[in-house]
Amino acid sequence: MKAITVEPRKPGTARLEDIPEPDPREGSVLVEAIAVGVCGTDVEIAEGKYGWAPPGADRLVLGHESLGRVIDPGLASSFKKGDLVVGIVRRPDPVPCPSCAVGEWDMCRNGKYTERGIKEIHGFMSERWRIEPEYAIKVDPTLGILGVLLEPTTVIAKALEQVAFIGRRSFWEPRTVLVTGAGPIGLLAALAAKMYGLEVHVLDRVEDGPKPAIVRDLGATYHSGSVTAIGFEPDAIIECTGVGKVIADSIQAIGASGTVCLTGVGHGGIVSAAACADIAAASVLKNNVIVGSVNANKRHWYKAGNLLARADRNWLCRLITRRERPENFMRALERTPDDIKVIVQFSEP
Ligand SMILES: [Zn+2]
Repeated sequence: MKAITVEPRKPGTARLEDIPEPDPREGSVLVEAIAVGVCGTDVEIAEGKYGWAPPGADRLVLGHESLGRVIDPGLASSFKKGDLVVGIVRRPDPVPCPSCAVGEWDMCRNGKYTERGIKEIHGFMSERWRIEPEYAIKVDPTLGILGVLLEPTTVIAKALEQVAFIGRRSFWEPRTVLVTGAGPIGLLAALAAKMYGLEVHVLDRVEDGPKPAIVRDLGATYHSGSVTAIGFEPDAIIECTGVGKVIADSIQAIGASGTVCLTGVGHGGIVSAAACADIAAASVLKNNVIVGSVNANKRHWYKAGNLLARADRNWLCRLITRRERPENFMRALERTPDDIKVIVQFSEP
């Protein structure tokens, strides 16, 4: 079968090639790939900056934002032939640490977890893949191709849950939320916050292209420019850019008792001891919380599935701005300014 593979830590090694059919040891449920979303992590792996092949292998099948159709449910699963499914990305570490032991592998303490398409387990960019039934999530069949947005939605389901948990430390009735970055994660955060009944603001650097209208059509307010110029103090900020300046401004702009939830992974930026002390002072004086949030556990996958199932299909469609065939996967890894979510499509939903 055809698969998109890469030799991790070696730039320029990504290719479409023939590999053996998936090993039954990878799971009793056999799935035909429909589509796989591409994100910044895939680009980093293809550029040789990240990623680990499975033990004993040189190459890794890329892709972690899956959508497929069950072609053989196997003996011990509740799935039926034809069900649309997505695969959970992370697996608990083998020790396991206390978090992984209770199924919260997203909170892994020792970093020995594995991840499909990223860390030591093959991903989903192959014509067929296998999965353990307990790591497959059924997708509302009416979502069709939009089910490929489920994995990025899990990141948001967890992030918003973290913010809500933190809010319970005191009396807190959030009204306004600012989302920084109008990429797929940011727009899905805006969607979820809107569905939770909050007043939603989205900030991105672009002034044209599809993003401003997508935000406005959600009933949210679009801002471009600096976070410190938005003119109000948000109760919560979901930071989805990973850009140092945006993070620093967010910590300055957050309202008293508010939470800044960091979901973007960036590099560099200006760091000084004085800035750290200023950030700490602001957080102390306003009872602010700055929290990082990564990945998702099964509870978040379930919540994300429900969230997407209730969302407006026409609006969700606008997030998928480009579909590429597997043979053109390199084009999917290159981003243009108007791209939101680019997917590699293997078959029709
Ligand atoms: Zn762990």
